[in-house]
Amino acid sequence: MNILLLGSGGRECAFAWKISQSAHCSKLFIAPGNAGTGAYGKNVTLNPNDFEAVKTFALNENISLLVVGPEEPLVNGIHDFFTNDEQLAHIPVIGPKKEGAILEGSKDFSKQFMERHGIPTAASKSFTNETLADGLAYLQNHATPIVLKADGLAAGKGVLILDNVAEAQEELKLMLGGKFGNAGSTVVIEEFLTGIELSVFVLTDGRNYVILPEAKDYKRIGQGDTGLNTGGMGSVSPVPFADEAFMTQVKEEIIQPTIDGLLKDNIDYTGFIFFGLIKVGNKPYVIEYNCRMGDPETESVIPRIESDLVELFIACADKKLADYQLNISEKSAATIMIVAGGYPGEYEKGKTISGIENLRDSLAFHAGTTLEGGNVKTNGGRVIAITSLQDDQFNALQRATADAGRIYFDGKYFREDIGFDLM
Ligand code: AMP
Repeated sequence: MNILLLGSGGRECAFAWKISQSAHCSKLFIAPGNAGTGAYGKNVTLNPNDFEAVKTFALNENISLLVVGPEEPLVNGIHDFFTNDEQLAHIPVIGPKKEGAILEGSKDFSKQFMERHGIPTAASKSFTNETLADGLAYLQNHATPIVLKADGLAAGKGVLILDNVAEAQEELKLMLGGKFGNAGSTVVIEEFLTGIELSVFVLTDGRNYVILPEAKDYKRIGQGDTGLNTGGMGSVSPVPFADEAFMTQVKEEIIQPTIDGLLKDNIDYTGFIFFGLIKVGNKPYVIEYNCRMGDPETESVIPRIESDLVELFIACADKKLADYQLNISEKSAATIMIVAGGYPGEYEKGKTISGIENLRDSLAFHAGTTLEGGNVKTNGGRVIAITSLQDDQFNALQRATADAGRIYFDGKYFREDIGFDLM
């Protein structure tokens, strides 16, 4: 089959690497892709949010499976667009429709969903401009730290954690006043949970699901998880503290009630659910839902999947996941993200990258890269993910870190402590 994959990050590069190995894949197109995805398929200059352009391309190239990497086209309704179009309706889409993507697209919706279906999460209350005075009063007696979340998509910047009430009240005013544009027209005020975070992923056909390998990502720019938040500086899979007893709780108290909740709410969901979890004591709580895979978690998760990914996607689209046996490697994966100097603040693009051919024990999943006159150049803040799959986590981390040192470009930076806190 001819497959169209939307996106341009390290996540999509890992997908492209795996999809290209499938016996079911005749042609793979990645829109827009990056310098790395071009090795596994054909990059296409297409904006994933321009649905008419996606349609024209899909029809011209006889696409028979659409895989959506990032959340934005899903929240904007690309799956609905395909289903509602006579010429596209036969093409299965991996990624939920709008009504499912709202689990990520609206934090207010997802909190109500969790409350409605008894899924453990931090206590919260939502406010709008009309109820600002109630929000300020609500904050007055709130325990600190206080978590404020813009309801809508805010490019990963919509969550603020404030240490005192006065600051939180000020921020609430700013957010409802338009600090994050429309995304902040509703703000969720949430109890702060203390624990350790991890990411759990399922692929669901709306009724049944397979659980993919879990992962842990490292969000802060600095060693020891300090400094500014980023899109993610590295990841590991498996997660040592997610033992069997904990994962059984995750399945029984979170995953199953979520799938049952979708069914009860009549939300037909085909695609990934990413559970951003926090382990408080021994108990899992949901911090957030996402309607797609994580990045850089995918770069550690995908290499541990031994099954044919396209076969898995077809089973999902055919709603046959009940019988699907997913094979997962016992090995450990570690991913180190190499970023541009200055990131997550201002950074330059267009630096020539060298050394990719010198990697010894790792895969290179490109993120912000582009090909220019035969040279691979930087084209984003997060530039390239280095993933090593080894018999144990220590080895995976050591080799990925050593290989990250073999890549060069002006201003390059990576964290050398990813995962070592788990040893
Ligand atoms: P989110 O976009 O909801 O994943 O939030 C971004 C980050 O903020 C999370 O990865 C957590 O580190 C932190 N966070 C969000 N909600 C809470 C909470 N209720 N308690 C503690 N930390 C939180």
